[in-house]
Amino acid sequence: MAGVKGMRNQSRKTALIVPLTQPSPAAMRQAAHAACRQGADVVEFRLDFLSGLTESAPAELLQERPLPAIVTCRPARQGGRFAGPEGQRLALLRLAARAGADYLDLELDAAEADGGLIESLRRENPAVQIILSQHDFAAPVPDAKEALRRMESLPAQVNKIVFAAHGPEDALAAMAIVRASARPAIALAMGEAGVASRILARKVGAFGTFASLEAGAESAPGQLTVAQMRQHRWDATGPATVVYGVIGYPVAHSMSPAIHNAAFAEAGLDAVYVPLPTEPGEANFNRFIDAVLAAPWADVRGLSVTIPHKENALARAGGGNVDELSRRIGAINTIRLDGDKLLGWNTDYAAATDALCAAMGIAREGLSGRTVAVLGAGGAARAIVAALSHYGAKVATYNRTVARGEKLAAEFACRAAGLDELPGVDCEIVVNCTSMGMHPRVDDSPLERIPPAVKVVFDTIYNPLETRLLASARRAGCRTVSGLEMFVNQAAAQFEIWTGHKPPRKTMRQVALHRLALV
Ligand code: NAP
Repeated sequence: MAGVKGMRNQSRKTALIVPLTQPSPAAMRQAAHAACRQGADVVEFRLDFLSGLTESAPAELLQERPLPAIVTCRPARQGGRFAGPEGQRLALLRLAARAGADYLDLELDAAEADGGLIESLRRENPAVQIILSQHDFAAPVPDAKEALRRMESLPAQVNKIVFAAHGPEDALAAMAIVRASARPAIALAMGEAGVASRILARKVGAFGTFASLEAGAESAPGQLTVAQMRQHRWDATGPATVVYGVIGYPVAHSMSPAIHNAAFAEAGLDAVYVPLPTEPGEANFNRFIDAVLAAPWADVRGLSVTIPHKENALARAGGGNVDELSRRIGAINTIRLDGDKLLGWNTDYAAATDALCAAMGIAREGLSGRTVAVLGAGGAARAIVAALSHYGAKVATYNRTVARGEKLAAEFACRAAGLDELPGVDCEIVVNCTSMGMHPRVDDSPLERIPPAVKVVFDTIYNPLETRLLASARRAGCRTVSGLEMFVNQAAAQFEIWTGHKPPRKTMRQVALHRLALV
């Protein structure tokens, strides 16, 4: 067993703690060995998850443990499952101390209610380390200064503050708590919005961060699995790591973290990319940006922006800090933070134009005079219509909601029609910017039979890689372009804007293909 001494020696390294939530001591012990094999540094035995919890459980769990262990018996009042009397709960912790637990997680309110509690636990086991904890599953960010003051007036070794995140700015608040703590600390913002606080624990030198053994075995909302933590390079981060992320809603299924983290690893950059789920609304977007600007120590240097914040991002960056075509499109998908200045780009339009031009073997200028039918009138269509018009293509828009299509067409001096007119289309190029045919509705297609005039079909959808529209176009002898090329192009452009390095496109493409194969 790696003893407490070993643990102390590595106390400067943030520990990966795997909570064990199995229903029996035997299953929990087995899971402890699995956690060890997965590379955990510490396991946490959650007594409150055991069904039929008995006095022998602490000793049973702690014998021949493969890793240093925290013993926790979280009461229902702090989000745990133990609903019995407080005296019984504390007696179990005392038994755990006696059985040689390396750490005991003790709630701050329990320690304050009984001034002699910590000393009495130490009498059972002088080497035991006390983690003083405070968990709040509902309230906003706690008064951390006050909680830390109360914790530090007690003779413990680690402070732990956990609270529910309302937006990704709360992940920064958690990281600030670790920085403010006089002793080693764990601070986590629970829920999807706070996930960055888990990934970035090492950046602020936290005592530890938690990850589950597998999906479904989480002990708190927002906890990633050990494998997901690795995919987010959590263990490659340190104090100087530069942080990037994707701000949007939802972002849980975004391919961007996998692609950018793989690219940073390939390029040997000390950088990490995290999900930053931000609910719709300009105020929510601005709240996060304000928090980033107030936390220069977090080294957040760039953001991918996705639905529904692309327009909010442009408004925040301000017209002077984005290129003219992005201003005309009215949306940006890339932000670079230079000090307190936000610079914005729309890498979607160039990504789409270049994907199309590469397939046709022409330069952007070669689009001049070509006839293009753009299907759709949403965000993607807008970026593509703007770009194609800019390079002199003759664009016609086709949209289900005709009035929306007409509005877009009027802005860029194009022709507008309803989707019902599409079968008669006589353009050389067709670009699908509707979501027709996208997973899971893969049998949909905006155009059943490809008219003879059409030579090139570009579907911006990348899931599936070959939509029904593209399959029809291929059979009709057209050149086809998948949305994957656009997706990789826009991500590669972001990488270059942020880092100044040549993007490892091959790796980025491979990761995207791998992710799509898993869907
Ligand atoms: P959006 O703003 O919501 O626009 C959706 C468009 O699809 C609208 O024109 C809408 O028509 C049309 N549409 C939706 N369902 C339809 C249906 N059942 N029948 C006919 N038309 C329908 O979305 P967006 O951001 O522009 O994205 C649109 C597509 O572009 C998505 O498939 C997305 O995968 C793709 N995209 C790809 C990339 C990439 O990197 N490859 C990047 C961005 C977007 P109405 O106006 O009538 O509602």
